Amino acid sequence: MVQITSPLGFLGTVYREIRQSMVDMAEMFHLLDQPAEVLDKPDARPLTVQRGEITLDNVRFSYDPEREVLKGVSLTIEAGKTVAIVGPSGSGKSTISRLLFRFYDVTRGAIRIDGQDLRDVTQTSLHAAIGVVPQDTVLFNDTIRYNIAYGRDGASEADVIEAAKAAQIHDFISRLPDGYDTQVGERGLKLSGGEKQRVGIARTLLKNPPILMLDEATSALDTETEKGIQEALVHAAQGRTVLTIAHRLSTIADADMIVVLEDGEIVEHGTHIELLAKNGRYASLWRRQAAEQDAA
Ligand code: ADP
Ligand code: MG
Repeated sequence: MVQITSPLGFLGTVYREIRQSMVDMAEMFHLLDQPAEVLDKPDARPLTVQRGEITLDNVRFSYDPEREVLKGVSLTIEAGKTVAIVGPSGSGKSTISRLLFRFYDVTRGAIRIDGQDLRDVTQTSLHAAIGVVPQDTVLFNDTIRYNIAYGRDGASEADVIEAAKAAQIHDFISRLPDGYDTQVGERGLKLSGGEKQRVGIARTLLKNPPILMLDEATSALDTETEKGIQEALVHAAQGRTVLTIAHRLSTIADADMIVVLEDGEIVEHGTHIELLAKNGRYASLWRRQAAEQDAA
């Protein structure tokens, strides 16, 4: 029996890993739409996150030599704080999240987590430390339990429920006739955009990363759904360092610091209150969005 089951068990593990990395890739492709281009250094060490402080030190970056996309961005996200990046489309916001995940290396300057240059650490350890909440969560044709639990190998039922509660999807799941055994995905129960997003948040919470990265995570949702998700995200952010890229300014007004990026440069930074008082770029973006919301 042992001879028969152990190779099958091995295949099962491989299959699960392939499935898992396919979904990870699908999510990352959707969010960051770029494949990994960088390799670990031969002497790369695992990242050790003690506090979770992120530093961008005069970061310059170009996708192609003709045009610089980030033109010397310096920014510190203190451990446990939430920093939001706002700015017009094309200003370089998503590029910053791609660099933090090290899909590319910076052209000049450096990005460090707790003092360790991203170029010196293994990508596996870097990716394990950063949880991503994507715009669109990919679901397996499997149970809702499986869809949450795959965020962490060997997660217990209690872990899954705790993550679902934090993502504010537990009550919804409990009301389903089959509860956590409900089949979801294309061949099962179709979840709404907001419900899928909550499953994605639960998955990420189960992974328990010290750093969270949200790139316009709620921009595809209607305002009501977004409010609910936003509450779940505030919960998720507790005790973690968070970089959030926001389209709707109303969702990031509580951030510890807001950074306004324009054409690859930070043109303003401060809290919501400070930036409104300054009456500059952020204040005018805010007024424009408020007017748009009143009109709608
Ligand atoms: P944002 O997220 O603020 O809308 P991005 O960081 O996605 O902006 O893009 C910043 C600039 O870089 C844009 O001008 C965009 O066209 C360009 N860009 C983004 N991805 C690529 C790429 N893979 N190759 C070349 N240029 C790119
Ligand atoms: Mg973007």
